[in-house]
Amino acid sequence: MYFNCDICGGQTEILLGQTYHYKESGLDNVYLENIEVRVCKQCNEKSPVIPRIMQVHKLMALAVALSDTPLIGAETRFLRTELGYKVKDWAKLLKISESTVVRWESSSQAIGAQSDALMRLCFIQTIQERDSHLFAESVIKRIAAIKEGQKPNIYINVSDPTSYRYFKAA
Ligand SMILES: [Zn+2]
Repeated sequence: MYFNCDICGGQTEILLGQTYHYKESGLDNVYLENIEVRVCKQCNEKSPVIPRIMQVHKLMALAVALSDTPLIGAETRFLRTELGYKVKDWAKLLKISESTVVRWESSSQAIGAQSDALMRLCFIQTIQERDSHLFAESVIKRIAAIKEGQKPNIYINVSDPTSYRYFKAA
């Protein structure tokens, strides 16, 4: 069995157990492990087959919310959209203007440290209330530990999207 390339219609080769740099997520530090990737033999286009994508995205957002470096615009956008909030809803919750949200997300305005912490807490609390599920991680410890520095890469094993790991190259 084979699949045709979405781009050129060519025949694809299926590679299993790959690590895929998941840039389509809008984040440039996320890698999906143990994933099936279809590679076009003709144009070399690579397309990942992401199982349980809802779970994978939720876990990515959690890993972003608990990461130890200040949030960048693309990350705050990911947190917001993962919650299903429109800019308007997010602005209302955070007690700021919609234009501030837009400027943060496009990286044209710096995100203050307090807004950073508030967004993480609002994200975590929303998920916890929706799912009636408390995260095992100590959210407060993670937020207390945020500091400037190298942003960690986030790795998620798609065959078991219940845990994530961070990795910083030495
Ligand atoms: Zn192709």
